[in-house]
Amino acid sequence: MRSILHVDMDAFFVSVEEVLNPSLRGKPVIVGGDPGGRGVVAAASYAARKYGIHSAMPLARARRLCPSAIFLRGSHSCYKEFSCRIFDILRGYSPLVEPMSIDEAYVDLTGCMRLHGSLLDTAQRMRDEISEQVGINSSIGIAANKLVAKVASTAVKPSGMLWIAPGMERRFLAPLGVECIPGIGPKSALELRRMGIRTVMQLSELPLEWLEQAYGKWGSALYLKARGTCDHPVVSEEEDSRSISRETTLLEDSADPKYLESILSYLVEKAVFQLRVEKLYARSVTLKLRHSDFKTVTRCITLRESTDDDRIIFREILHLFRKFFVRRTCVRLTGVSLSSLSRVRFQQLDLFEKVSFKERDRLFRGIDGIRDKYGFHSILKAGSFRDSGK
Ligand SMILES: [Mg+2]
Repeated sequence: MRSILHVDMDAFFVSVEEVLNPSLRGKPVIVGGDPGGRGVVAAASYAARKYGIHSAMPLARARRLCPSAIFLRGSHSCYKEFSCRIFDILRGYSPLVEPMSIDEAYVDLTGCMRLHGSLLDTAQRMRDEISEQVGINSSIGIAANKLVAKVASTAVKPSGMLWIAPGMERRFLAPLGVECIPGIGPKSALELRRMGIRTVMQLSELPLEWLEQAYGKWGSALYLKARGTCDHPVVSEEEDSRSISRETTLLEDSADPKYLESILSYLVEKAVFQLRVEKLYARSVTLKLRHSDFKTVTRCITLRESTDDDRIIFREILHLFRKFFVRRTCVRLTGVSLSSLSRVRFQQLDLFEKVSFKERDRLFRGIDGIRDKYGFHSILKAGSFRDSGK
């Protein structure tokens, strides 16, 4: 029997804004940008929600509903910093922490009772710690699986805690609307409602064969979900211990930082290309420098989030290089290594980054496609071109 917590921040972006500027507390605050623009609401305070405003609603509409609302652009780097602090608190309770987006994570506490005491006490301590140290309110759902824990945390928002005792999963879900089940979006909920299926109980009364015929694989998943069954494990971010490394011995030892940087830029491009071919994301970046006397220096940096963006990775490598390269020391070999690899990109569900990720992914697909056709060297960064130097 597993003990899984779903920890979810309440109105996260708005709560961060309130910590930074306490005068916003209790007011209708909307994060998303210029209400005259074409953007959507990324987050709305509970005061704003009273006007019917919710995330993903066009900003113009939100302004019509509540003209007095305070519209903020939001600062993603700032939210990320808060998020990291919160996840670090969670990792103090269990190594099995699986972030699902910038403001929610699953924590597997199975077998930790000896260490932490009862589940409810532990969850309460987590909430207290997050609120005292970071200033953000959270809600926690506790259950024997991820699905029920997630539904439970949503059901007690804001600032609540709900434990569904093992064996009670189905009874807990039965009276709730079908849209409470993760994976049933507004569209599917509407379709089900048209067939007269409003509650999870009604959904659970549909025979498996019927669901499979109507919805295929998704139908059999629905069958299990309606019963509160889910066996997905909590996966911590860094389970893949492999690494992707690229290193090179220089034709001639060099102490020219510009030249060495261009080599590193090239190595990063090569390593990241491989990363993307394998559809992986890296969270740790290691720089290796071997000097003429064969002394070797390796320095590693762990990123706040995993990435497959060579610009981000190169920035980190450059940072390490400039910190650890000793002037006038000749280098004979340099290398770059990517590790803490994972299949999922941390925070990919986030509204803010969806757009920029899409554009970026299109760019990478373009580059990788050209390389596929014409070879890796057919397209390279300007910074990787410099090959003269001593
Ligand atoms: Mg949340």
